[in-house]
Amino acid sequence: MDFTAKFTQLQQYFSHNKTRDLAWRKQQLQQIKRLVVDNESAFLSALATDLGKPAQEAWMTETSYVASDVDHTCKRLHRWAKKRSVSTPLVAQPGRSYIQPEPQGTVLIIGAWNYPLQLILAPLVAVIAAGNCALVKPSELAPTTSALLAKLIPQYLDKNAVSVVEGGADETTALLALPFDHIMYTGNGQVARIVMAAAAKHLTPVTLELGGKSPVYVDDSADLNITAQRIAWGKWMNAGQTCIAPDYILCSKRLVTPLTTALKAQIINMFGQEPKQSKSYGRIVNQRHTKRISDYLADQDIAVGGEFDLENRYIAPTIVINPARDSSLMSEEIFGPILPIIAIEDFAQAKAFVTMRDKPLAAYIFSKNKHQCQAWVHDVRAGNQGINDVIMFNAVPELPFGGVGPSGIGQYSGQAGFDNFSHLKSVLARPFIKDLPIRFAPYGKIKFKI
Ligand code: NAD
Repeated sequence: MDFTAKFTQLQQYFSHNKTRDLAWRKQQLQQIKRLVVDNESAFLSALATDLGKPAQEAWMTETSYVASDVDHTCKRLHRWAKKRSVSTPLVAQPGRSYIQPEPQGTVLIIGAWNYPLQLILAPLVAVIAAGNCALVKPSELAPTTSALLAKLIPQYLDKNAVSVVEGGADETTALLALPFDHIMYTGNGQVARIVMAAAAKHLTPVTLELGGKSPVYVDDSADLNITAQRIAWGKWMNAGQTCIAPDYILCSKRLVTPLTTALKAQIINMFGQEPKQSKSYGRIVNQRHTKRISDYLADQDIAVGGEFDLENRYIAPTIVINPARDSSLMSEEIFGPILPIIAIEDFAQAKAFVTMRDKPLAAYIFSKNKHQCQAWVHDVRAGNQGINDVIMFNAVPELPFGGVGPSGIGQYSGQAGFDNFSHLKSVLARPFIKDLPIRFAPYGKIKFKI
């Protein structure tokens, strides 16, 4: 398997500077939107095949997400791409200092299966906006969406600038051997280490969008119904297969039962008494993952749900009470529809619980106590945070999205994405006016003090 020719062709096209032209970039961005809009029903059907995604959910989190991203980016592209003037200190005066964003070259985008459209096209929007060429590799675990992207991208986008390779670990390994100018990987931390090691061979910068166990602290002061509705939506959307979904809840002992009851009521509101029959509830991506997730349920105190069907990749929305802290349910990212609720003594213990563990991709708090919310944001290190809501920060395009530590490296969304795939080049421009003599040898003409 050799993708050298494809890669070289992209590199050569980049060197002709066509992709630096802002009009070309805008036109290509509009084509990404057209690709999604013209083929929306085909994408919704592919996402239903791959993940049982309900159409409205897929529209909210995949197709319309990408379309809005294009609109947001096109409106601001000229501003982002402009020179950014900065002040010049006395030592460099007279002079003019500025930052000139410039494209990096050819970027490899490796997508994951859980949002198989968004996780390819949203990074592509940022990569094209920044003036790069791209080679995209959708996830083989969402094969219908991958095939559709591979068919449509060459029809809508400049084939010289954007190329698609389908496949799994073998194809990705072959791609990773090439000297890309930037690699963007979305997926799990183990493969991220392989990606980073391969990138190190060429000193290629990486953006790693990974996962982790995103905690939620619910304080006694929180409005229980609103809290339960927002958490239930964020947890059971895409059957829990969302990188920033709540992984587990921490709350006081007295809140465990009322919160469980409120969450159960929301499950019934959203998916009825039999979620398996609901058109609003998705499926697990494959049987291997269904088995992995359902294995977490062994020997647990299941308060709600717990039913699963390996063959049909179904796991019910499930709540588990006080799992052992060293169980695999509490040491691995769940990435499925099981929600543990853990009783803790107080807010300080909740913070300690979270800060003793890996830095998560998101950390959430539900509380009416403003000081507590501020302390949570200040003391808990996480990629992103939500106060009194989950996931919705990702709907704010100017909030950079990304992890920290084991949950990721680098950020995208809005200008953060543009900057991430640009090189922010520093320029100092000086006129031909004589300098102060202090700068030049021979030294020793003045007395100096540090
Ligand atoms: P996945 O199985 O689709 O793998 C991701 C990509 O890695 C695929 O394109 C796959 O082909 C490639 N890959 C797999 N094995 C490889 C290997 N040995 N060498 C090279 N490439 C290989 O997705 P996944 O990893 O199961 O995704 C789930 C994880 O991704 C979760 O941890 C989740 O939290 C995280 N995630 C993060 C974000 C984010 O934006 N931060 C978004 C979605 C998912």
